[in-house]
Amino acid sequence: MSKVHNFSAGPAILPKEVIDNCISALQNFENTNLSLIEVSHRSKEFVAVMDEACSLVKKIMNLGDDYDVIYMQGGASTQFLMTAFNLLENKAAYTNTGTWAKKAIKEAKHTGTVDILGSSEDKNFSYIPKNFEISSDYDYFHCTSNNTISGTQMQSFPECNVPLVCDMSSDIFSRELDFSQFDLIYAGAQKNMGPAGTTLVVIKKGLLGKVTRYIPTMLDYRTHIDKESMFNTPSVFAVYGCMQTLRWIDKMGLATIEKLNTEKAELLYNEIDGNELFQGTTAVEDRSKMNITFILKDDSRNDDFLKSCADANISGIKGHRSVGGFRASMYNALGLDSVEALVSVMKTFK
Ligand SMILES: *Cc1c(COP(=O)(O)O)cnc(C)c1O
Repeated sequence: MSKVHNFSAGPAILPKEVIDNCISALQNFENTNLSLIEVSHRSKEFVAVMDEACSLVKKIMNLGDDYDVIYMQGGASTQFLMTAFNLLENKAAYTNTGTWAKKAIKEAKHTGTVDILGSSEDKNFSYIPKNFEISSDYDYFHCTSNNTISGTQMQSFPECNVPLVCDMSSDIFSRELDFSQFDLIYAGAQKNMGPAGTTLVVIKKGLLGKVTRYIPTMLDYRTHIDKESMFNTPSVFAVYGCMQTLRWIDKMGLATIEKLNTEKAELLYNEIDGNELFQGTTAVEDRSKMNITFILKDDSRNDDFLKSCADANISGIKGHRSVGGFRASMYNALGLDSVEALVSVMKTFK
C-alpha cells in the first residue's frame, strides 16, 4: 500500500512508532499477557502509565512542582465550561478569535460576566486581535493559542496581572514556549498529542478554591487532582497513546520539533504566496504553523484540485465546512515529505 499524506485536522496524524506501540499494548500490555484495554486502571502497570504521562508533560514544559497535571474526559469542549465554573466568580476577559473561542465564551457567559477584549470576527477571524489592556480586576484572561479552523496562531501572549488560561488544543507541544506564564492550559489530545478520548489540563497550584458556587464533583478540578486522574475510570487507551507520543516528543525535544514545523510551514506558505492560482486567507503575521488555510482564486476549480490531491494520496485537505477552501493541518508527526507532495501538486496544478 502506498503512503497516504495525512493532513487531517483532528483526530490527526501520530508518529508511526506510537501507533505500533499502541498495537502491541492492545495485544500484550507490559508482559501481562492481557490487553491494555482489559486490565484495571488501578493495576500497577497502568498507574505507571498515568504517572509517566503526567510527569513527561511537566518535563517537556519545564514546569516544577507548582503545577498539577490531569487527564480528563469530555474533550476541550467540556473545558469551556469547567474553566469558567472553577475560576469565574465576578468577571473574566476573553478574546474572540474563532469558532472554539466563541464556544468558550458562550459557556462562560452562563457563569459570570464576560468581557471580550479583542475580537477578529469583523474579518472572519483572519487575524489575532492585539493591543488591548487586561485590567487587574478580572478573575482570569482566556485565549486560544491556535485557531484550528481559521488558521491563525498567537505568536506571543499578552502580559497580564491576572491568571492566564489558554486553550492549546491544536498547537500544544508544537513549539518552545515559556509555559510558566500560564496558570491553566487545556488541550484535547486528538490534535497533536494522542488519540481522541482524553484532555490534558495543566493547572498552577493555588489557582483553585476561589469561587463560592457549588461545583459538581466531576466538574471540580480538585476532584481529579486529588485522585490523580483516577476519580473515575480514565480513558486508558487514550492516555496510553498520549504517553507514547510524549515519549516521542521528549526524545525529539521541542526545539527540534519547532524547527521542523517552521520549515514545513514556510515551504507551504511560500508556494501559496508564489503560485498565482492560490491565496492565503489569514494575516501574514498571525499565520498558523499547524493549520494552514488557503483558497483557489477561481473556486470553480476546487473539486479539480481536491481530485489532484487525492490522486497524489493526499488526504484531509478540504477546508472546514464553515470556511470552505483548503486547510492543511501539519501537526508534529507530519513529515516534510508530505508537505513536499502537496506543494508538488500545487505546482503541477498551475
Ligand atoms: C478541536 C478543538 C476543540 C474541541 O475539542 P474537543 O476535544 O472535540 O471538544 C477546542 N478548541 C480547539 C482550539 C480545538 O482545535
